[in-house]
Amino acid sequence: KPRILDGKRTASALVDEVRETVEREGLTPGLAVVLVGDDPASQVYVRNKGRRAEACGFLSRQYDLPATTTQADLLALIESLNSDPDIHGILVQLPLPAQIDADRVIQAIAPDKDVDGFHYLNVGRLATGTIDAALLPCTPKGALHLIEQVLGADLSGKRAVVIGRSNIVGKPMASLLLARNATVTVIHSRTPSPAEICRQADIVVAAVGVPGLVTGDWIKPGAVVIDVGINRVEGEDGKGKLVGDVDFDAVAPLASAITPVPGGVGPMTIAMLMHNTLQAARRRSAPSS
Ligand code: NAD
Repeated sequence: KPRILDGKRTASALVDEVRETVEREGLTPGLAVVLVGDDPASQVYVRNKGRRAEACGFLSRQYDLPATTTQADLLALIESLNSDPDIHGILVQLPLPAQIDADRVIQAIAPDKDVDGFHYLNVGRLATGTIDAALLPCTPKGALHLIEQVLGADLSGKRAVVIGRSNIVGKPMASLLLARNATVTVIHSRTPSPAEICRQADIVVAAVGVPGLVTGDWIKPGAVVIDVGINRVEGEDGKGKLVGDVDFDAVAPLASAITPVPGGVGPMTIAMLMHNTLQAARRRSAPSS
């Protein structure tokens, strides 16, 4: 029987640890979450992040801006948050409306407050293996934490396959696995024979956005399978439900460990956001460490 990696439980333990550290060290990490427009999914994400931050004993501030916000206005807000001593983490919820250049906004965030880990400086630190100095993107960081629970921190001798090459999940995931000494292959939309390549993997991380893409014939028996995908599909009862990129029922019997969707990587992402915010606050209070 495979081990089901319970992201909800692991995330809640992590959040407890963050809260205890905050209390013990007498810190008040400040997290600012900026939402532009009224996308309902983004509203839910932002609300959850704020709630988690409060549960951790953080100062939590939410900025709701209208969909018509100009780039200049948003950049001015970022600038003021960059110089606000109470704020240690700044997160701009994506996607942004079309009139705003998302990349310019992300690059305007002070790198030491970039708790999403999307600023070029943090991306570069991860890519060059200067990981301790980096703020790491939350989803791959959470996925790695789950992998570590099964395989430990050193992945020497393990073959890992990452499916998907996005800047927020696939690429940083590959860099993290590489930093842990795994032998890493990235599969993407232009890769021929993906199942054949994936079947060699001891660790599979799927971050695609295609429901059920990874079927049993993609999986080597005993593999650790991490499903990052979150896809809304219609269930048998006609209601919407969430599924991953992995065909769970087909893959689970083959895997040694597997994450469910929902309840796997999803909750880890938000826990790692809290972890990053704490890290940013600690660095600010002790700049030499
Ligand atoms: P994306 O659309 O930016 O990237 C998808 C990647 O998949 C691309 O690199 C593309 O090359 C690759 N791809 C597309 N079709 C493919 C195919 N048939 N075979 C192989 N590769 C293929 O998506 P993303 O932002 O990386 O997100 C991926 C999935 O993860 C989505 O379902 C998203 O909702 C989910 N996600 C979950 C979390 C979380 O917190 N758990 C966070 C971010 C994203």
